[in-house]
Amino acid sequence: MEPIFYSEEENAYQQEAQAFFEREAPPFIVSMERKNEYPFELLKKLGSQHYIGVRYSTEYGGGGRDMLHETIINEEAGAQSYAISCARSVPHHCAHIIDVYGTEEQKRKYLPGIFSGESIMAEAITEPTAGSDAARMKTSAVKKGNQYIINGEKRFQASGAVAHLLVVFAITNPDVHPSKGMSCFLVDTDDPNIVAQEDFDVMGWRGLRVVSELILNGVEVPEENRIGEEGQGFPILIDMLDTERIVVSASLTGGARTCLETAARYSMEREAFHRPLKNFEAISFRVAEMACRIEAARLIRIKAARMFEAGMDVAKMAAMAKVVAAENGFWVANEALQIMGGIGATTKSDIERHFRDLRIGMVGAGSNEVMKLVVQREVYKEFASG
Ligand SMILES: Cc1cc2nc3c(=O)[nH]c(=O)nc-3n(C[C@H](O)[C@H](O)[C@H](O)COP(=O)(O)OP(=O)(O)OC[C@H]3O[C@@H](n4cnc5c(N)ncnc54)[C@H](O)[C@@H]3O)c2cc1C
Repeated sequence: MEPIFYSEEENAYQQEAQAFFEREAPPFIVSMERKNEYPFELLKKLGSQHYIGVRYSTEYGGGGRDMLHETIINEEAGAQSYAISCARSVPHHCAHIIDVYGTEEQKRKYLPGIFSGESIMAEAITEPTAGSDAARMKTSAVKKGNQYIINGEKRFQASGAVAHLLVVFAITNPDVHPSKGMSCFLVDTDDPNIVAQEDFDVMGWRGLRVVSELILNGVEVPEENRIGEEGQGFPILIDMLDTERIVVSASLTGGARTCLETAARYSMEREAFHRPLKNFEAISFRVAEMACRIEAARLIRIKAARMFEAGMDVAKMAAMAKVVAAENGFWVANEALQIMGGIGATTKSDIERHFRDLRIGMVGAGSNEVMKLVVQREVYKEFASG
């Protein structure tokens, strides 16, 4: 990255991270893809490098850096595998709300295990009848003495089948709008009243152990496991999703970057009609547009990360970063596959895996349409206020 966008230190950090993921990720990519195995050992290695919770305080075992560094790590992880970057970054999103809204006791109890890669986290938001419209969730948490009883069904939790700890959003007051009636809880999965099922065979993000059903059947959660105030769950959720979008956009750009590199190199070597593919404008112009789209996605993400660090409202920029990275990422993967011809559609190249992973990027972590809902809302707000 040119120094104008990254400082010397950030550049060095990126290069070190790139070397780390290029060296460490490949065996885990194979076991995740072929055996659907969760990368437990890689997460511990990431933890020992402070590559989980990069931007959190060292007091709790975090990396002591900032959001830009967090995204640098996710771009490098994503350049190898979206699934690895997701296993690495879900703890980041969950830790954000513990860090901002949690009690000192919750921070000391949970954050060090999350950042060392030993405590696996999952976000329990989506339900069978409430995805994009998360406010319509039905999972309930009813206060009984000094604990809550949680009942409901979630689905699609990444790392859900292997998680030790869930961040669960549930309705505590059904008589008011969910923006005031939702609360957020930390739930230990060793409770026998939690059942995780994996009946889906997802087209990508393999090895992430995404669940088809996460049933919470009368789960007793002590009051001290509530994050923030009762009724504060919805603003906490929105805050978490804003930070998540910035970090996830970096993974998607990483995957697209690998597709560009692979396809561009291939077009320099592969010949057709007595010349390298790159000598056909139909190919080289594709490469040009791939490079433009990756650069655009990365720059929006860098802007969002710097705004976050400056304490600015990132709702619009985070959603922009996610939707541009998702749309451009899949577009790049699709073009890369075309440049590679038949071999691009096989497991001989990494393109087909990135293609599958990047396609899900347009739905997972909030769909493109939902990102555009946020962007248009913010744009109209700006115009309305002159
Ligand atoms: C592999 C994978 C991993 C996931 N990981 C997690 C996780 O860890 N935790 C978690 O809680 N969830 C997770 N999800 C769920 C994910 O966040 C949802 O799938 C996503 O938010 C969309 O919700 P939905 O599937 O219910 O689709 P729906 O909300 O039913 O939407 C269906 C379609 O309608 C569109 N749509 C909806 N509303 C509008 C609108 N107002 N205007 C225009 N179009 C609209 C959507 O964009 C989408 O294209 C994961 C999903 C996948 C596939």
